[in-house]
Amino acid sequence: MPTLLNELWVNQSASLSTLARTPLQQLSIVVPCYNEEEVLPETASRLSFLLDELTGNNLVRETSIYFVDDGSTDRTWTLIEELSALDDRVHGIKLSRNCGHQSALLAGLLHAPGDAVISIDADLQDDISAIKDMLVAYSAGAEIVYGIRSERSSDTFFKRGTAEGYYRLLQAMGVRLVFNHADYRLLSRRVLETLRDYKETNLFLRGLIPQLGFNSATVYYNRRERFAGESKYPFSKMLGLAIEGITSFSEIPLKLITLMGMLISLVSFGLALWALAVKILNPEAVPGWASIVIPLYFLGGIQLLCMGVIGQYLAKVYSETKGRPRFIIEKTL
Ligand code: UDP
Ligand code: MG
Repeated sequence: MPTLLNELWVNQSASLSTLARTPLQQLSIVVPCYNEEEVLPETASRLSFLLDELTGNNLVRETSIYFVDDGSTDRTWTLIEELSALDDRVHGIKLSRNCGHQSALLAGLLHAPGDAVISIDADLQDDISAIKDMLVAYSAGAEIVYGIRSERSSDTFFKRGTAEGYYRLLQAMGVRLVFNHADYRLLSRRVLETLRDYKETNLFLRGLIPQLGFNSATVYYNRRERFAGESKYPFSKMLGLAIEGITSFSEIPLKLITLMGMLISLVSFGLALWALAVKILNPEAVPGWASIVIPLYFLGGIQLLCMGVIGQYLAKVYSETKGRPRFIIEKTL
């Protein structure tokens, strides 16, 4: 549970009638898509069905869906064009190349006009019926509503283990993170305008959003299997995002390196004294090969590791100082 957050507890049984009394002016849904031709038609039809229901019940006045094509190489953009021609609530944002999930998401969030904007993956893993709960929480005053996976049985053992271990590691490193929440969330217009002021190139939204403050709430849902197609997050991208999360929000690795350096220096100093004592007290002692070679390898390894970690942070400073755009929009619909 995110104890650090200014949690606004939402009564899940709060009826939708509360919402009907104060209909939301405009709701936008942002869906990043990278090679999602297999799922896109189904996702679009399910989302538009849900939006029909919301407007039909007078819970929301206007709705829009923003599909962000993150440089797909399949028919994703053509499908978005077709969907947009059929339904004027459907819009498209085409990025000039694959900028990555986080940047695609940001492009959509900063572009969508809604008073409340919900981001959701294209593959229908996140249960879209939680959108109603998010709106209830929003109408009760929450400006950020986090979608949390109540269980992960649809994930592989490896994915579940690494993901949960990672959330714990980040929390231990002092990163304010909502456990088991990914990028399925509602943000109010006020939060989105605040987010616009965060110019960082190295994006890790699920670490950044809890830092913004504001009233927040959580809704729970069951994560399903991907509707179709393969995961667009291979191990290398997952690892990249994981490193991003740590190096963007925590200085603890740098502190650990300093501590490790101090400890090793202390131990080496002790060893040097011991070697000196042996040399003086026992003139026949032949210095051991192992006692030279082992610390040599050990220290070499540690030094390389530390340089690597420092390099990661330095690379971050490098990319931030360049201040290049985080995404490039080629065209919009
Ligand atoms: N995605 C993206 N750009 C990328 C990789 C993924 O926009 O470079 C999108 C993808 O289309 C999907 C979402 O990010 O809507 C999450 O990806 P995926 O479902 O493949 O990840 P997983 O659920 O396996 O972690
Ligand atoms: Mg997925």
